[in-house]
Amino acid sequence: MNGVCETNKMEIMIRSLGDELGPFKVLWIRQPDVSLEAFVVVDNVACGPAIGGIRMAIDVTVGEVARLARAMTLKNAAAGLPHGGGKAGIVANPSLPSARKEQLVRAFAHSIRELTEYIPGPDMGLNEECMAWIKDEIGRVVGLPKVLGGIPLDEIGATGFGLAISAEVAAERASLDLHGARVVIQGFGAVGMHAARFLAERGGKLVAASDRQGAIFNADGLSVEKLTAHKRSGRPLQDFSGAVSMSGDDLIGLDCDIWIPAARPDVLNEKNVSRLKASLVLQGANIPATSGAEQWMHENGILNVPDFIANAGGVICASVEYHGGTQSQAMAAIEDRIRANTSEVLKRAEEAKCTPRQAAVGIARSRVEEAMRYRRYR
Ligand code: NAD
Repeated sequence: MNGVCETNKMEIMIRSLGDELGPFKVLWIRQPDVSLEAFVVVDNVACGPAIGGIRMAIDVTVGEVARLARAMTLKNAAAGLPHGGGKAGIVANPSLPSARKEQLVRAFAHSIRELTEYIPGPDMGLNEECMAWIKDEIGRVVGLPKVLGGIPLDEIGATGFGLAISAEVAAERASLDLHGARVVIQGFGAVGMHAARFLAERGGKLVAASDRQGAIFNADGLSVEKLTAHKRSGRPLQDFSGAVSMSGDDLIGLDCDIWIPAARPDVLNEKNVSRLKASLVLQGANIPATSGAEQWMHENGILNVPDFIANAGGVICASVEYHGGTQSQAMAAIEDRIRANTSEVLKRAEEAKCTPRQAAVGIARSRVEEAMRYRRYR
């Protein structure tokens, strides 16, 4: 009886999320013999088989997976990739012992063997090694280790590089000189540290950064190289010498030119957005600002480049890997597409007097709708 109620609730929820774009398929996987519970949402495949990561978390829900799958449809279409959007969730603790994690990931891979419209990749809780297990089971995956033909996107900083390209275009629109621009980064991880590095190469000055434990600040600039080495050694940012410690929350009100959220969702919201002093916000994390916060930035002259335009470097890299391309081809594709997309989105937003996100969603949706016209199903 409980199972029936749960199924009904799930059906109602999925239907409420659905619209003319998707979802195309929803798969709910239960394998009691290995205690596997997982979901796959293939949102839309008009542009090609869906690419999107697998999130492993104890509290991941099919609703969250469906929203992330839609975000991938828009991100992949905006980036001009021959791929639709999808996402998967495995309900489990990502810190499981490796052997148990491998059992779950391999069982999950078996369950999606016939779901050829979905190409899995890494997301929160899963890494390149997990992708290698999937490759071993079914052959269809992105985000592989180098030795298996993968392009190590977090090692080379694919997403951070894309953010710096987006910054070049947006800075020009905001009449901001990147040389000497003061940069603040919330979340000095794979995305944040590479964004800092590529912006420093363009003359940007990192004045503050944070991690889960807190934030540090130095008005004269922090050495990105030294800070990266410090962070990679496993120490919290606040132990870095030559900087003042502050609370993570204070980062929002710092006087700066470019503010980059590169950690959690909804960190810029109706309660705190008015404290921002930056002239440009580049969204490195997924959904880091609420729609109210984006509207406030729009009305108050802060240029804001939305996540699926600015942070598409990772998935562009994954797509190049899947199609057998090289690392330098991936970097060239990231530069090409993010430069063109940032420019088009900001131009359209200005012309239509709408937010950059409204312009970006409009562009991405119309690409998906155009692709759907070539398909038998509508
Ligand atoms: P990561 O785990 O390497 O780094 C995240 C960093 O954020 C860590 O330093 C962590 O300490 C810090 N952090 C966590 N909570 C925080 C908080 N409340 N305040 C400040 N810092 C906090 O992750 P990542 O790969 O850099 O991804 C960061 C974000 O970007 C995620 O939202 C991810 O979904 C998104 N994203 C990543 C990629 C990619 O290529 N890795 C691509 C697109 C989007």
